[in-house]
Amino acid sequence: MNFLSLIEAKREGKLLAPDQIENFVHEFTAGKIPDYQMAALLMAIYFRGLTTAETTALTLAMRDSGDVLEFPEDTRPLVDKHSTGGIGDKVSLPLAPLLACLGFRVPMISGRGLGITGGTLDKLDAIPGFRSLLPAEKIVKQVQQVGCVICGQTDHMVPADKKIYALRDASGTVPSIPLITASILSKKLAESLEALVLDVKFGCAAFMQTKAEARKLAKAMVTLGNDCGVNTRAILTNMNTPLGRTAGNWLEVKESVACLEPISGGRRRESAHTFPKSSQSGLTSAATEEGQASDLRSLVLDCAAHLLVQTKKSKSLAAARKQAEDCLNSGEPRRKWDEMIVAQGANLAAFNQKLALDHAASAVMELKSPRAGFVSRCDARIIGEVIRDLGGGRLTKESAINYDVGVDRMAKPGEAVQKNSVLARIHAANQSQAKSACARLKTAFEFSARRPVLAPLVTGVITA
Ligand code: URA
Repeated sequence: MNFLSLIEAKREGKLLAPDQIENFVHEFTAGKIPDYQMAALLMAIYFRGLTTAETTALTLAMRDSGDVLEFPEDTRPLVDKHSTGGIGDKVSLPLAPLLACLGFRVPMISGRGLGITGGTLDKLDAIPGFRSLLPAEKIVKQVQQVGCVICGQTDHMVPADKKIYALRDASGTVPSIPLITASILSKKLAESLEALVLDVKFGCAAFMQTKAEARKLAKAMVTLGNDCGVNTRAILTNMNTPLGRTAGNWLEVKESVACLEPISGGRRRESAHTFPKSSQSGLTSAATEEGQASDLRSLVLDCAAHLLVQTKKSKSLAAARKQAEDCLNSGEPRRKWDEMIVAQGANLAAFNQKLALDHAASAVMELKSPRAGFVSRCDARIIGEVIRDLGGGRLTKESAINYDVGVDRMAKPGEAVQKNSVLARIHAANQSQAKSACARLKTAFEFSARRPVLAPLVTGVITA
Protein backbone atom coordinates (compact mmCIF):
# COMPACT_ATOMS: atom_id res chain seq x y z
CA MET A 1 0.00 0.00 0.00
CA ASN A 2 1.22 3.48 -0.82
CA PHE A 3 0.39 5.11 2.48
CA LEU A 4 1.97 8.43 1.50
CA SER A 5 -0.65 8.87 -1.22
CA LEU A 6 -3.42 8.41 1.40
CA ILE A 7 -1.87 11.11 3.58
CA GLU A 8 -1.67 13.44 0.58
CA ALA A 9 -5.24 12.66 -0.49
CA LYS A 10 -6.64 13.47 2.95
CA ARG A 11 -4.42 16.54 3.21
CA GLU A 12 -6.15 17.78 0.03
CA GLY A 13 -9.58 16.98 1.49
CA LYS A 14 -10.25 13.96 -0.75
CA LEU A 15 -12.32 10.92 0.25
CA LEU A 16 -10.69 7.67 1.33
CA ALA A 17 -12.34 4.46 0.14
CA PRO A 18 -13.52 1.88 2.73
CA ASP A 19 -10.95 -0.68 1.56
CA GLN A 20 -8.12 1.87 1.84
CA ILE A 21 -9.20 2.63 5.41
CA GLU A 22 -9.52 -1.05 6.31
CA ASN A 23 -6.10 -1.65 4.86
CA PHE A 24 -4.22 1.06 6.72
CA VAL A 25 -5.83 0.15 10.06
CA HIS A 26 -4.73 -3.43 9.52
CA GLU A 27 -1.20 -2.46 8.45
CA PHE A 28 -0.75 0.05 11.28
CA THR A 29 -1.93 -2.46 13.90
CA ALA A 30 0.55 -4.98 12.47
CA GLY A 31 3.39 -2.44 12.90
CA LYS A 32 3.88 -1.95 9.14
CA ILE A 33 3.23 1.81 9.07
CA PRO A 34 5.60 4.06 11.03
CA ASP A 35 4.15 6.28 13.77
CA TYR A 36 5.30 9.48 12.04
CA GLN A 37 3.27 8.67 8.92
CA MET A 38 0.20 7.65 10.91
CA ALA A 39 0.50 10.87 12.97
CA ALA A 40 0.55 12.84 9.69
CA LEU A 41 -2.64 11.13 8.53
CA LEU A 42 -4.31 11.77 11.90
CA MET A 43 -3.43 15.46 11.60
CA ALA A 44 -4.86 15.57 8.06
CA ILE A 45 -8.07 13.95 9.42
CA TYR A 46 -8.10 16.43 12.29
CA PHE A 47 -8.17 19.35 9.82
CA ARG A 48 -10.14 17.82 6.93
CA GLY A 49 -12.55 15.57 8.86
CA LEU A 50 -14.13 12.32 7.70
CA THR A 51 -17.53 11.71 6.12
CA THR A 52 -20.00 9.39 7.85
CA ALA A 53 -19.07 6.61 5.42
CA GLU A 54 -15.34 7.09 6.11
CA THR A 55 -15.95 7.18 9.89
CA THR A 56 -18.01 3.99 9.67
CA ALA A 57 -15.24 2.24 7.72
CA LEU A 58 -12.64 3.40 10.27
CA THR A 59 -14.80 2.29 13.23
CA LEU A 60 -15.48 -1.17 11.80
CA ALA A 61 -11.85 -1.68 10.82
CA MET A 62 -10.78 -0.73 14.35
CA ARG A 63 -13.38 -3.04 15.91
CA ASP A 64 -12.17 -5.89 13.72
CA SER A 65 -8.50 -5.30 14.57
CA GLY A 66 -8.95 -7.68 17.53
CA ASP A 67 -11.37 -9.94 19.41
CA VAL A 68 -15.08 -9.20 19.45
CA LEU A 69 -16.92 -10.60 22.48
CA GLU A 70 -19.23 -13.45 21.58
CA PHE A 71 -22.16 -14.27 23.84
CA PRO A 72 -24.50 -17.27 23.77
CA GLU A 73 -28.15 -16.81 22.75
CA ASP A 74 -30.09 -15.37 25.66
CA THR A 75 -33.35 -13.47 26.16
CA ARG A 76 -31.57 -10.75 28.14
CA PRO A 77 -30.46 -7.92 25.81
CA LEU A 78 -26.79 -6.86 25.85
CA VAL A 79 -26.58 -3.17 26.74
CA ASP A 80 -24.07 -0.60 27.93
CA LYS A 81 -23.57 3.06 28.73
CA HIS A 82 -20.59 5.22 27.85
CA SER A 83 -19.74 8.61 29.27
CA THR A 84 -17.33 11.04 27.64
CA GLY A 85 -16.00 11.73 31.14
CA GLY A 86 -16.12 14.28 33.89
CA ILE A 87 -15.55 14.97 37.57
CA GLY A 88 -17.40 12.82 40.09
CA ASP A 89 -18.97 10.86 37.22
CA LYS A 90 -19.50 7.49 38.88
CA VAL A 91 -22.76 6.58 37.09
CA SER A 92 -21.37 3.32 35.65
CA LEU A 93 -20.81 1.84 39.12
CA PRO A 94 -24.43 1.79 40.34
CA LEU A 95 -25.84 1.50 36.81
CA ALA A 96 -24.28 -1.88 35.91
CA PRO A 97 -25.89 -3.84 38.80
CA LEU A 98 -29.17 -1.95 38.36
CA LEU A 99 -29.30 -2.94 34.68
CA ALA A 100 -28.49 -6.56 35.53
CA CYS A 101 -31.45 -6.57 37.95
CA LEU A 102 -33.68 -5.08 35.23
CA GLY A 103 -33.01 -8.14 33.07
CA PHE A 104 -30.10 -6.97 30.92
CA ARG A 105 -26.64 -8.36 30.33
CA VAL A 106 -24.00 -5.67 30.79
CA PRO A 107 -20.46 -6.19 29.45
CA MET A 108 -19.23 -2.78 30.60
CA ILE A 109 -15.73 -2.35 29.18
CA SER A 110 -14.37 0.79 30.81
CA GLY A 111 -11.26 2.93 30.82
CA ARG A 112 -8.86 4.70 33.14
CA GLY A 113 -8.77 8.40 33.80
CA LEU A 114 -6.17 10.66 32.25
CA GLY A 115 -5.68 14.26 33.26
CA ILE A 116 -8.49 15.58 35.40
CA THR A 117 -11.30 13.24 34.37
CA GLY A 118 -11.76 10.15 36.48
CA GLY A 119 -11.79 6.63 35.07
CA THR A 120 -14.17 3.86 36.11
CA LEU A 121 -11.38 1.30 36.37
CA ASP A 122 -9.35 3.50 38.71
CA LYS A 123 -12.37 3.86 40.98
CA LEU A 124 -12.92 0.09 41.07
CA ASP A 125 -9.22 -0.53 41.73
CA ALA A 126 -9.79 1.22 45.09
CA ILE A 127 -11.77 -1.88 46.22
CA PRO A 128 -9.60 -4.38 48.14
CA GLY A 129 -8.82 -7.40 45.93
CA PHE A 130 -10.88 -6.23 42.93
CA ARG A 131 -9.59 -7.39 39.53
CA SER A 132 -10.36 -4.93 36.75
CA LEU A 133 -8.51 -6.78 33.99
CA LEU A 134 -10.09 -10.04 32.88
CA PRO A 135 -9.63 -12.36 29.90
CA ALA A 136 -12.45 -12.41 27.32
CA GLU A 137 -13.74 -15.87 28.41
CA LYS A 138 -14.10 -14.66 32.00
CA ILE A 139 -15.90 -11.49 30.86
CA VAL A 140 -18.44 -13.55 28.91
CA LYS A 141 -18.84 -16.09 31.74
CA GLN A 142 -19.45 -13.41 34.36
CA VAL A 143 -21.95 -11.55 32.17
CA GLN A 144 -23.87 -14.81 31.65
CA GLN A 145 -23.78 -15.78 35.33
CA VAL A 146 -24.00 -12.47 37.22
CA GLY A 147 -25.53 -10.27 34.53
CA CYS A 148 -22.84 -7.59 34.67
CA VAL A 149 -19.12 -7.00 34.62
CA ILE A 150 -17.12 -3.76 34.73
CA CYS A 151 -13.59 -4.29 33.50
CA GLY A 152 -10.89 -3.07 31.14
CA GLN A 153 -10.32 -3.90 27.53
CA THR A 154 -8.25 -7.09 27.08
CA ASP A 155 -4.95 -6.82 25.16
CA HIS A 156 -6.68 -8.50 22.24
CA MET A 157 -9.69 -6.18 22.05
CA VAL A 158 -9.53 -3.22 19.62
CA PRO A 159 -5.69 -3.07 19.58
CA ALA A 160 -5.90 -0.50 16.75
CA ASP A 161 -7.55 1.98 19.11
CA LYS A 162 -4.87 1.52 21.76
CA LYS A 163 -2.14 2.34 19.23
CA ILE A 164 -4.00 5.15 17.48
CA TYR A 165 -5.17 6.75 20.75
CA ALA A 166 -1.60 6.83 22.11
CA LEU A 167 -0.47 8.59 18.92
CA ARG A 168 -3.37 11.06 19.05
CA ASP A 169 -2.49 11.85 22.62
CA ALA A 170 1.09 12.62 21.58
CA SER A 171 0.25 14.49 18.37
CA GLY A 172 -2.48 16.91 19.46
CA THR A 173 -5.21 15.11 17.51
CA VAL A 174 -7.49 13.96 20.33
CA PRO A 175 -10.28 16.57 19.91
CA SER A 176 -11.49 15.42 16.48
CA ILE A 177 -15.14 14.34 16.28
CA PRO A 178 -14.65 11.51 13.73
CA LEU A 179 -11.60 10.19 15.61
CA ILE A 180 -13.39 10.30 18.98
CA THR A 181 -16.45 8.66 17.42
CA ALA A 182 -14.42 5.83 15.88
CA SER A 183 -12.41 5.34 19.08
CA ILE A 184 -15.41 5.11 21.40
CA LEU A 185 -17.71 3.16 19.11
CA SER A 186 -15.11 0.62 17.95
CA LYS A 187 -14.77 -0.44 21.60
CA LYS A 188 -18.52 -0.49 22.20
CA LEU A 189 -19.17 -2.45 18.99
CA ALA A 190 -16.64 -5.06 20.17
CA GLU A 191 -19.05 -5.79 23.05
CA SER A 192 -21.71 -7.07 20.59
CA LEU A 193 -24.39 -4.79 22.06
CA GLU A 194 -28.04 -4.46 21.19
CA ALA A 195 -28.44 -1.01 22.75
CA LEU A 196 -26.13 1.74 23.96
CA VAL A 197 -26.77 5.00 25.77
CA LEU A 198 -24.10 7.68 25.55
CA ASP A 199 -23.68 10.40 28.15
CA VAL A 200 -22.04 13.24 26.24
CA LYS A 201 -20.85 15.91 28.63
CA PHE A 202 -20.25 19.57 28.02
CA GLY A 203 -18.89 22.30 30.25
CA CYS A 204 -15.71 23.48 31.90
CA ALA A 205 -14.55 20.01 32.97
CA ALA A 206 -15.65 18.12 29.85
CA PHE A 207 -13.89 17.20 26.62
CA MET A 208 -16.46 19.29 24.76
CA GLN A 209 -16.64 22.72 26.34
CA THR A 210 -19.88 23.87 24.68
CA LYS A 211 -23.28 22.30 24.28
CA ALA A 212 -23.08 22.84 20.50
CA GLU A 213 -19.85 20.80 20.26
CA ALA A 214 -21.29 18.08 22.50
CA ARG A 215 -24.41 17.91 20.33
CA LYS A 216 -22.28 17.54 17.21
CA LEU A 217 -20.30 14.67 18.77
CA ALA A 218 -23.48 13.05 20.10
CA LYS A 219 -25.14 13.20 16.67
CA ALA A 220 -22.10 11.66 14.99
CA MET A 221 -21.97 8.79 17.50
CA VAL A 222 -25.73 8.16 17.44
CA THR A 223 -25.78 8.05 13.63
CA LEU A 224 -22.84 5.71 13.44
CA GLY A 225 -23.99 3.43 16.27
CA ASN A 226 -27.38 2.96 14.61
CA ASP A 227 -25.83 2.48 11.16
CA CYS A 228 -23.74 -0.31 12.68
CA GLY A 229 -26.81 -2.07 14.10
CA VAL A 230 -26.70 -0.93 17.73
CA ASN A 231 -29.73 1.02 18.96
CA THR A 232 -27.86 4.12 20.15
CA ARG A 233 -29.05 7.24 21.97
CA ALA A 234 -27.21 10.10 23.60
CA ILE A 235 -28.05 12.42 26.44
CA LEU A 236 -26.30 15.76 26.76
CA THR A 237 -25.34 16.54 30.35
CA ASN A 238 -23.84 19.52 32.12
CA MET A 239 -20.31 19.07 33.47
CA ASN A 240 -19.68 22.51 34.95
CA THR A 241 -20.39 21.11 38.43
CA PRO A 242 -19.17 17.72 39.68
CA LEU A 243 -21.72 14.93 39.70
CA GLY A 244 -22.76 13.86 43.20
CA ARG A 245 -21.01 15.01 46.34
CA THR A 246 -17.71 13.19 46.01
CA ALA A 247 -14.80 13.12 43.59
CA GLY A 248 -11.78 10.86 44.04
CA ASN A 249 -11.59 7.12 43.48
CA TRP A 250 -12.47 5.49 46.80
CA LEU A 251 -14.85 8.27 47.83
CA GLU A 252 -16.76 7.73 44.58
CA VAL A 253 -17.07 4.01 45.23
CA LYS A 254 -18.54 4.87 48.62
CA GLU A 255 -21.04 7.28 47.10
CA SER A 256 -21.98 4.72 44.43
CA VAL A 257 -22.78 2.13 47.09
CA ALA A 258 -24.87 4.73 48.95
CA CYS A 259 -26.72 5.41 45.67
CA LEU A 260 -27.66 1.72 45.54
CA GLU A 261 -29.21 1.80 49.01
CA PRO A 262 -33.03 1.72 48.86
CA ILE A 263 -34.90 4.91 49.66
CA SER A 264 -38.03 4.15 51.67
CA GLY A 265 -40.74 6.79 51.99
CA GLY A 266 -38.56 9.38 50.31
CA ARG A 267 -35.73 8.98 52.81
CA ARG A 268 -32.60 6.97 52.32
CA ARG A 269 -32.41 4.19 54.91
CA GLU A 270 -29.75 4.59 57.54
CA SER A 271 -26.72 2.39 57.02
CA ALA A 272 -23.08 2.37 57.96
CA HIS A 273 -22.13 4.07 54.71
CA THR A 274 -24.84 6.61 54.07
CA PHE A 275 -23.80 10.21 54.33
CA PRO A 276 -23.88 12.15 57.56
CA LYS A 277 -26.97 14.15 58.42
CA SER A 278 -27.06 17.85 57.69
CA SER A 279 -26.42 18.71 61.32
CA GLN A 280 -23.13 16.81 61.22
CA SER A 281 -22.01 18.07 57.85
CA GLY A 282 -22.91 21.65 58.69
CA LEU A 283 -24.97 22.00 55.52
CA THR A 284 -28.41 23.48 55.76
CA SER A 285 -31.78 22.33 54.45
CA ALA A 286 -31.02 22.04 50.74
CA ALA A 287 -28.25 19.59 51.48
CA THR A 288 -30.19 17.10 53.55
CA GLU A 289 -29.41 13.43 53.50
CA GLU A 290 -31.70 12.53 50.58
CA GLY A 291 -30.31 15.41 48.58
CA GLN A 292 -26.81 14.08 48.95
CA ALA A 293 -26.64 12.31 45.64
CA SER A 294 -29.89 13.27 43.95
CA ASP A 295 -28.24 14.31 40.66
CA LEU A 296 -26.26 11.06 40.58
CA ARG A 297 -29.31 8.93 41.33
CA SER A 298 -31.35 10.82 38.77
CA LEU A 299 -28.77 10.29 36.00
CA VAL A 300 -28.44 6.59 36.84
CA LEU A 301 -32.24 6.23 36.55
CA ASP A 302 -32.32 8.23 33.30
CA CYS A 303 -29.70 5.99 31.66
CA ALA A 304 -31.54 2.84 32.78
CA ALA A 305 -34.87 4.28 31.56
CA HIS A 306 -33.52 5.05 28.09
CA LEU A 307 -32.14 1.53 27.73
CA LEU A 308 -35.49 0.03 28.83
CA VAL A 309 -37.22 2.05 26.09
CA GLN A 310 -34.52 1.35 23.46
CA THR A 311 -34.87 -2.40 23.99
CA LYS A 312 -38.69 -2.15 24.07
CA LYS A 313 -38.84 -3.44 27.63
CA SER A 314 -40.85 -0.34 28.44
CA LYS A 315 -43.24 1.76 26.34
CA SER A 316 -42.47 5.22 27.67
CA LEU A 317 -39.64 6.98 29.45
CA ALA A 318 -41.91 7.78 32.40
CA ALA A 319 -42.91 4.13 32.85
CA ALA A 320 -39.29 3.04 32.39
CA ARG A 321 -38.04 5.46 35.01
CA LYS A 322 -40.61 4.17 37.51
CA GLN A 323 -39.56 0.60 36.72
CA ALA A 324 -35.90 1.50 37.29
CA GLU A 325 -36.70 3.37 40.49
CA ASP A 326 -38.75 0.49 41.92
CA CYS A 327 -35.91 -1.87 41.08
CA LEU A 328 -33.33 0.36 42.80
CA ASN A 329 -35.56 0.62 45.86
CA SER A 330 -35.99 -3.14 46.05
CA GLY A 331 -32.41 -3.47 47.33
CA GLU A 332 -31.63 -6.10 44.66
CA PRO A 333 -29.08 -3.91 42.79
CA ARG A 334 -27.22 -3.34 46.08
CA ARG A 335 -26.92 -7.13 46.53
CA LYS A 336 -26.00 -7.50 42.85
CA TRP A 337 -23.14 -5.03 43.39
CA ASP A 338 -21.66 -7.32 46.06
CA GLU A 339 -22.11 -10.32 43.76
CA MET A 340 -20.37 -8.49 40.92
CA ILE A 341 -17.35 -7.34 42.93
CA VAL A 342 -16.93 -10.74 44.62
CA ALA A 343 -17.00 -12.40 41.16
CA GLN A 344 -14.11 -10.08 40.28
CA GLY A 345 -12.03 -11.03 43.31
CA ALA A 346 -13.04 -8.39 45.87
CA ASN A 347 -12.56 -9.21 49.55
CA LEU A 348 -16.06 -8.39 50.81
CA ALA A 349 -15.12 -8.27 54.49
CA ALA A 350 -12.25 -5.85 53.81
CA PHE A 351 -14.51 -3.83 51.48
CA ASN A 352 -17.24 -3.51 54.12
CA GLN A 353 -14.66 -2.57 56.74
CA LYS A 354 -13.34 0.17 54.47
CA LEU A 355 -16.89 1.37 53.72
CA ALA A 356 -17.57 1.78 57.42
CA LEU A 357 -14.59 4.14 57.85
CA ASP A 358 -15.24 7.86 57.78
CA HIS A 359 -12.12 8.25 55.64
CA ALA A 360 -9.31 6.10 54.34
CA ALA A 361 -6.84 8.91 53.58
CA SER A 362 -4.32 9.98 56.23
CA ALA A 363 -5.46 13.60 56.48
CA VAL A 364 -8.90 15.18 56.31
CA MET A 365 -9.59 18.90 56.32
CA GLU A 366 -12.84 20.85 56.10
CA LEU A 367 -13.27 23.84 53.82
CA LYS A 368 -15.62 26.29 55.55
CA SER A 369 -17.91 28.78 53.89
CA PRO A 370 -16.63 32.37 54.17
CA ARG A 371 -20.20 33.72 54.22
CA ALA A 372 -23.90 32.93 54.43
CA GLY A 373 -25.91 32.76 51.23
CA PHE A 374 -26.36 30.34 48.35
CA VAL A 375 -23.69 28.42 46.49
CA SER A 376 -23.76 29.78 42.93
CA ARG A 377 -20.73 27.95 41.50
CA CYS A 378 -18.84 24.75 42.34
CA ASP A 379 -16.27 24.58 39.55
CA ALA A 380 -15.69 21.01 38.36
CA ARG A 381 -12.43 21.83 36.57
CA ILE A 382 -10.76 23.31 39.65
CA ILE A 383 -11.95 20.38 41.77
CA GLY A 384 -10.63 17.90 39.18
CA GLU A 385 -7.25 19.63 39.12
CA VAL A 386 -7.03 19.68 42.92
CA ILE A 387 -7.75 15.94 43.10
CA ARG A 388 -5.30 15.10 40.33
CA ASP A 389 -2.58 17.06 42.11
CA LEU A 390 -3.38 15.34 45.43
CA GLY A 391 -2.42 12.11 43.62
CA GLY A 392 -5.96 10.98 42.76
CA GLY A 393 -5.37 11.27 38.99
CA ARG A 394 -2.54 11.00 36.51
CA LEU A 395 -0.31 13.61 34.96
CA THR A 396 1.16 10.93 32.68
CA LYS A 397 -0.04 7.43 31.80
CA GLU A 398 2.61 6.00 34.15
CA SER A 399 1.69 8.05 37.26
CA ALA A 400 0.78 6.00 40.35
CA ILE A 401 -2.59 6.79 41.92
CA ASN A 402 -3.51 7.39 45.56
CA TYR A 403 -7.02 5.90 45.62
CA ASP A 404 -8.03 7.39 48.95
CA VAL A 405 -7.57 11.10 48.25
CA GLY A 406 -10.35 13.33 47.00
CA VAL A 407 -13.18 15.58 48.06
CA ASP A 408 -16.49 14.70 49.71
CA ARG A 409 -19.50 16.45 51.29
CA MET A 410 -19.43 18.99 48.46
CA ALA A 411 -22.04 21.73 48.62
CA LYS A 412 -23.77 22.15 45.28
CA PRO A 413 -25.04 25.19 43.40
CA GLY A 414 -28.44 26.29 44.68
CA GLU A 415 -27.82 25.13 48.23
CA ALA A 416 -28.03 27.48 51.19
CA VAL A 417 -24.98 27.72 53.42
CA GLN A 418 -24.24 29.51 56.67
CA LYS A 419 -20.97 31.26 57.44
CA ASN A 420 -18.51 28.52 58.51
CA SER A 421 -20.68 25.62 57.38
CA VAL A 422 -18.77 22.91 55.52
CA LEU A 423 -18.44 23.44 51.75
CA ALA A 424 -16.35 20.31 51.21
CA ARG A 425 -13.90 17.98 52.94
CA ILE A 426 -10.46 17.33 51.49
CA HIS A 427 -8.92 13.86 51.86
CA ALA A 428 -5.15 13.98 51.40
CA ALA A 429 -1.97 12.01 51.98
CA ASN A 430 -0.80 14.50 54.66
CA GLN A 431 -1.76 17.73 56.41
CA SER A 432 0.42 19.97 54.31
CA GLN A 433 -1.09 18.69 51.03
CA ALA A 434 -4.57 19.00 52.54
CA LYS A 435 -3.84 22.61 53.48
CA SER A 436 -2.68 23.68 50.04
CA ALA A 437 -5.56 21.78 48.37
CA CYS A 438 -7.96 23.58 50.70
CA ALA A 439 -6.66 26.98 49.55
CA ARG A 440 -7.15 26.03 45.88
CA LEU A 441 -10.53 24.40 46.48
CA LYS A 442 -11.79 27.64 47.98
CA THR A 443 -11.54 29.26 44.54
CA ALA A 444 -13.99 26.67 43.11
CA PHE A 445 -16.89 28.10 45.12
CA GLU A 446 -18.85 31.30 44.56
CA PHE A 447 -21.89 32.59 46.41
CA SER A 448 -24.95 34.74 45.86
CA ALA A 449 -27.44 36.39 48.17
CA ARG A 450 -30.39 34.91 46.25
CA ARG A 451 -30.92 31.30 45.28
CA PRO A 452 -29.46 31.03 41.76
CA VAL A 453 -31.42 29.64 38.83
CA LEU A 454 -29.80 26.30 38.08
CA ALA A 455 -28.97 24.92 34.65
CA PRO A 456 -30.59 21.48 34.20
CA LEU A 457 -28.32 18.44 34.41
CA VAL A 458 -29.72 16.79 31.26
CA THR A 459 -30.25 19.30 28.50
CA GLY A 460 -31.06 17.17 25.50
CA VAL A 461 -31.58 13.68 24.11
CA ILE A 462 -30.36 12.67 20.66
CA THR A 463 -32.13 9.70 19.13
CA ALA A 464 -31.65 8.00 15.79
N1 URA B 1 -12.57 8.27 24.93
C1 URA B 1 -12.13 7.36 24.06
O1 URA B 1 -12.18 6.17 24.31
N2 URA B 1 -11.60 7.80 22.88
C2 URA B 1 -11.53 9.09 22.55
O2 URA B 1 -11.07 9.42 21.49
C3 URA B 1 -12.01 10.03 23.49
C4 URA B 1 -12.53 9.60 24.67
